[in-house]
Amino acid sequence: MIDPFGRHISYLRVSVTDRCDFRCVYCMSEDMNFLPKAEVLTLEEIDRVCSAFVRLGVRKLRLTGGEPLVRRNVMSLFRALGRHRTSGALDELTLTTNGSQLHRFAGELRDAGVRRVNISIDTLDPAKFAAITRWGKLDAVLDGARAAKAAGLAVKINAVALKGVNDDEFDRLIAWCGEEGHDLVLIEVMPLGDIGGPERLEQYLPLSLVRARLQRQWTLDESDYRTGGPARYFTVRETGRRLGFITPLTHNFCESCNRVRITCTGTLYMCLGQEDAADLRTPLRASDGDGPLEAAIHEAISRKPKGHDFIIDRRHSTPAVTRHMSVTGG
Ligand code: SAM
Repeated sequence: MIDPFGRHISYLRVSVTDRCDFRCVYCMSEDMNFLPKAEVLTLEEIDRVCSAFVRLGVRKLRLTGGEPLVRRNVMSLFRALGRHRTSGALDELTLTTNGSQLHRFAGELRDAGVRRVNISIDTLDPAKFAAITRWGKLDAVLDGARAAKAAGLAVKINAVALKGVNDDEFDRLIAWCGEEGHDLVLIEVMPLGDIGGPERLEQYLPLSLVRARLQRQWTLDESDYRTGGPARYFTVRETGRRLGFITPLTHNFCESCNRVRITCTGTLYMCLGQEDAADLRTPLRASDGDGPLEAAIHEAISRKPKGHDFIIDRRHSTPAVTRHMSVTGG
């Protein structure tokens, strides 16, 4: 799959549910309306869509959400998709999780062929964690991270940089990741979905500033490490661990974009920051064969836009796109 700008599409992110057991303030509003079950693809249908993408050249698959580990029986999907790892068709099967259920599933994930997991932890302060996630308990998440490590999964911690909330904690996060042997990725908050309450401008912290501040305390060596994702990596000399920056606002990363995303309803988004989408559920359900599905995928890739233009400033107070990160899948 090659898009109109010559980019090879080899990375698929799949939101397996729009539901989550947390309500992070920058991601969701407190009262979210979730999708009726009939609209959501079954696990077997998700497997069919993913397998079609693998046949068409996808080498990396990330399950996300919502919270992927709250979807009932999601382990059967991981096990089914693991066959593409065994056959060599897929380089990587992975997930992004809030970690709340990871203590239950870490071993099974490893058995299914998962080798790396991204866990979202914005703060190591339990009270702040409860405030950011509204419903989350830090202890359970740290248990999950320990279980992942014990199961032999490489752990990467994702932290969204939030002005006035966790910007005094990045040193602590870097040190903790060093002690635990985890990599860390800092992410700029993106203007996705109406979140009620706090304005984006109040949350937004440019990572160019953060990096300059961190360099006073840590030696950040440039690294050419790449995961196929949008992060730019450094090695923290003092800890030996990687530190990545995802900067959709201060440095647009679209030129090397190799990704597309599907929601749990089978809607394919060719860009995280654009509204254009393709319905894959109709061709999927219309036929037992995958011809119509593959044709719809090819047609959609031919429409992949050059990029997005996220702006957060006083004149742009409405979201760039109306759907929440939990719908498209982070
Ligand atoms: N529930 C899982 C989790 O917590 O990682 C997976 C889904 S979550 C939507 C994926 C990632 O997106 C998380 O790291 C979350 O912090 C991040 N995220 C959510 N909304 C965001 C926003 N508006 N800007 C930047 N990152 C966001």
